[in-house]
Amino acid sequence: MRQCGTVQRWVGAFVVAAASTVAAATGGIGAIKSQDLKEWLSYIASDELQGRATYSSGIGLAAAYIEGHLRGWGVKPAGDHGGYLQTVRVLGVKTTSRASVTVDVAGETRTFADGDGITLPKNMGGKRRFTVDRVEFAGYGLDAPGASHSDYRGKDVKDAAVVWLGSSGPKGLDQATYRRLLMGRNRYATEQLGAVASIGPAAGAGRAGRAGGPGDPTGSGRAGGPPEPSAPGGSGGAGFGRGAPLPAADFTTVQRLDATVPPNVGATDAFFEFLFSRAPEAYEALKRKAAAQEPLPSFRLEGVKLTFNIDADYQVVRTQLTHNIVAMVEGTDPQLKNTFVAFGAHYDHVGYAEGEVTREDTGARRAGARGRVTRGAEDDRIWNGADDDGSGTVALMALAKTFAAGPRPKRSLLFVWHVGEENGLLGSRYYADYPTVPMERIVAQLNIDMIGRNRDDKASEANTVYLVGSDRISTELHNLNRAANGELPKPLTLSYEFNDPTDLEQVYYRSDHYSYAAKGIPIIFFTTGLHPDYHANTDDVSKIEFDKLTRITQLIYETGLRVANLDHAPVRDKLGPRAGRLTQ
Ligand SMILES: [Zn+2]
Repeated sequence: MRQCGTVQRWVGAFVVAAASTVAAATGGIGAIKSQDLKEWLSYIASDELQGRATYSSGIGLAAAYIEGHLRGWGVKPAGDHGGYLQTVRVLGVKTTSRASVTVDVAGETRTFADGDGITLPKNMGGKRRFTVDRVEFAGYGLDAPGASHSDYRGKDVKDAAVVWLGSSGPKGLDQATYRRLLMGRNRYATEQLGAVASIGPAAGAGRAGRAGGPGDPTGSGRAGGPPEPSAPGGSGGAGFGRGAPLPAADFTTVQRLDATVPPNVGATDAFFEFLFSRAPEAYEALKRKAAAQEPLPSFRLEGVKLTFNIDADYQVVRTQLTHNIVAMVEGTDPQLKNTFVAFGAHYDHVGYAEGEVTREDTGARRAGARGRVTRGAEDDRIWNGADDDGSGTVALMALAKTFAAGPRPKRSLLFVWHVGEENGLLGSRYYADYPTVPMERIVAQLNIDMIGRNRDDKASEANTVYLVGSDRISTELHNLNRAANGELPKPLTLSYEFNDPTDLEQVYYRSDHYSYAAKGIPIIFFTTGLHPDYHANTDDVSKIEFDKLTRITQLIYETGLRVANLDHAPVRDKLGPRAGRLTQ
C-alpha cells in the first residue's frame, strides 16, 4: 500500500512506550488503549515491514519491534536460552514407507501395501501396528445440515474405522460452497467423531479425494501444510549458491515425526472390492451410485477386521529456521504461578509481490501476487496484513503490557507471537510439540486472529466478535468468557456461528489455537471474521476499527484474568461444540 504520513521508527516507539508504563499503573482494561494499538499497528502493518513473510527481513523487523517493547515493559523472556526468541525448525522430509493395511473378511486376508492399492499420507506419524474389528461404511461420510444431508445421524463411529465413497458428494451439493467439508471428511471422522482411522477413495479418483493430504490447504492437524515447491533448496529451488540443489522433500513439517496420528487412507477399487466382498451391497453397485451422486446406504461391515501397519522412515533433507516470540508475566500465587494462561497471535503475513501485480476478474492471484489483488490497487505490491494478523499482534502486545503493569493474577501469563501461521500454522504447531513451558501446565489458550474489522464490512457487525471452540474442551472456560463479557462497560455481541462443526469455512481448524486444542488444551479463538480485504493487498491500517479492536482486547484481558485467578484449572469436560449458528 501507499502509506500516507510518516511511519514511526521502532526506536522512537520504544521511548514513548517506556514512558507510558507509569500512566498504565492504574491497571486493568483502562490501560488497554486505542491510541497504543494504533501506534503499534501503524508500524507493524507499514510498507517498511514488507508484508512480514516468514523467512523475510520484514518479519525480523516485526520481531525486533515486539521484543523491544516487551523489554521496556518488563515482560519476561520465555523463549530459548533466556531470550524472547524461540527458534522454529521447519523440516523438509523424505519418506520411505513400508506401511500396509491388512483386510480380513471372515477369515480371508489380503494385505495392501502403501502405493499398491492404498496410499497413506507421507507424514503418517510414528511406527505402530493396530487392529480394528469394527468397520463402518458411512455412505458419503458427510454431515452437511445446510444441504439436508447427514450420513452420521444416529451412527456412533467412535473407535471404529470409517469408510466412505463418492469424492464429489451427493447430488445437488454445490462443490464450491461445500469444498472444505468435502475435503475435510477424513478429519471430521477421526477428530470430530472419534474414529481411529478413515478410508476414502485415493486422490485422483476424484477432485475432493483425500482430505488431510498434502493438497488440503486447511491442514489436517498434522502435516504442517502443503509442500512448498518454491522454497529455497526445494525441487529445482534457487538460492543455494554452490553445489547441487537439495533433494525434493515429500512434505514440510515442524512437528515431531514420532507422534501417532489416525491413518487417513486413500484406497483403490481393488481394495474396496475385497473390503465389500461380503457386504450387504457389492462395491460395484456402490461405486456406480457414488459416481451418479445417488443416495448411498450405510452399514457396518460385519466380520471385517483391518490391521494398520504404520511403518515409515523419515529423512530430513532440508531445515529452514525462523522464530516465535515468547514472553511471560509471573503470577502471584506460590503454587498457581507454575501454571499458565496462554495468549497467542501470529505476527507473520504473506509478504510482497516480487513480480508484476495483475488481477484476474475474479480477484484471484496471478503470478507475482501473494494473495488477492483489489481492483484499482494494482500498484500496491505489499500485503500489509493490518487485520491479518496485525490486529492480533498488537492486541497481544497490549495484553502483555497491561498484565506486566499489574495488578497481577495468581497464575502466570504466557504470550506467544507465532510465526508461519500463513504457511500452515508452523509456529504454533512447533510450540505445541516443543513448548518452552510444560504443555500440561497451560490451563487455557486464547488465540487472536483478525479482530479489527466488521465481517463482510457490514455496519450491523460493528459490535460483534466471533468465538470459536470455547465450549469444545471446557464448558467452564466458555462460561467464564461469557461472564467476562457481561461485566464489560459495553458488552460485545458474541456469535458462535463459526463454532458449528459443519461451518462451511471450517474456521476452527484454520488458526493457531488448533495446535493447542489438538493437545487437549481448552481454547478460545477470537475473530471478527472475513471481509473483502482478507488476504488482499488492501488489508490496511486505514480500514481498522480501533475502538472495536480495543474493546475485544479488553474482553480477552478480562477472560484471561478470570482464568488466571481461578483456584482450579478450567474443567476439561470435552463435550464438543454445542454453541453454533443458532446460538448467541
Ligand atoms: Zn491470513
